[in-house]
Amino acid sequence: MKKRILVTGGAGFIGSHLCERLLNEGNEVICMDNYFTGDKDNVLHLLDNPYFELIRHDVTHPYFVEVDQIYNLACPASPVHYQYNSIKTIKTSVMGAINMLGLAKRINARILQASTSEVYGDPLVHPQKEDYWGNVNPIGIRSCYDEGKRCAESLFVNYHEQNNVDVRIIRIFNTYGPRMNPNDGRVVSNFIVQALKGEDITIFGDGKQTRSFQFVDDLVEGMIRMMNVENFTGPVNIGNPNEFTMLELAEKVIKLTNSESKITYLPLPADDPLQRQPDISLAKEKLNNWEPKVQLNEGLTKTIEYFSALLEK
Ligand code: NAD
Ligand code: UDP
Repeated sequence: MKKRILVTGGAGFIGSHLCERLLNEGNEVICMDNYFTGDKDNVLHLLDNPYFELIRHDVTHPYFVEVDQIYNLACPASPVHYQYNSIKTIKTSVMGAINMLGLAKRINARILQASTSEVYGDPLVHPQKEDYWGNVNPIGIRSCYDEGKRCAESLFVNYHEQNNVDVRIIRIFNTYGPRMNPNDGRVVSNFIVQALKGEDITIFGDGKQTRSFQFVDDLVEGMIRMMNVENFTGPVNIGNPNEFTMLELAEKVIKLTNSESKITYLPLPADDPLQRQPDISLAKEKLNNWEPKVQLNEGLTKTIEYFSALLEK
């Protein structure tokens, strides 16, 4: 059945894919963004659709609209951008959650929070399951993002318990794909852009730290399943368990782009997690056997095609 859906942060990397998919499924989509890290270009191709509305608005201010569902994605996701104005990042996560939960309560909408694997911090348990409480430095340079997202989870759970708001929480693990901002600062976009330009590939630290990379289409599928499942609030991990070191990633990118780039080593930023891998058994159980379908070589190839075209413009 056709629904009216609000996506905050809808002009960002993940948000734009989500808006596109929701429209393709016959829904009406309201995309709200303040364009801090997002871009109108990401949703330009959707503007001809009469069921798509684009609103410039900052989620830290209240917003009122009548919708059936809210996907709350507004928040910078790359360390470079979320550390640029750390107080604003906390406000976006916390006040954004309060504003959107207040709206959901008032209009009786279901609301999904885009939480993160960063709630596990630098994890002492591997792989990470949802019942792990995490290892976050509350005063470190990543805390504006990690603690903001942890507080948002707490708000979601408490609005559910206290006010019966119909909430869903997903913890997203490192996701990549077309429409990442070339200046985003995250590792996949950095390495691809560097390789395509023939610049040095910048590995932070010794490159032995690991991440598990998920292609954006798999995430969007998991997100939509979670939003529409009954009697399950989460939190649930949504990620691809295939784990790689940053050195392995750099070598893959160099090979797939046929690049002459060399690897250079830069200092590891403070509190950078050493390892990260999702346990996705809960997602499989609750979300009708959801699991990632696109593995790293295929996803990187699609992402490289996107950045090649972008850099040729
Ligand atoms: P992104 O930076 O491309 O998108 C975030 C969007 O939110 C941007 O369009 C930005 O302009 C918008 N935004 C930021 N502050 C805002 C505000 N105050 N008001 C309105 N809009 C605002 O990042 P992304 O990778 O698409 O991430 C989307 C969401 O998913 C974020 O909440 C992020 O924390 C979460 N997430 C992403 C990943 C990942 O690997 N990409 C991992 C875990 C969680
Ligand atoms: N990283 C890197 N070179 C870069 C950007 C990032 O080696 O140019 C490393 C970073 O230190 C981290 C990993 O890649 O260990 C993933 O970083 P990203 O910012 O993409 O995601 P997050 O650390 O938030 O998981």
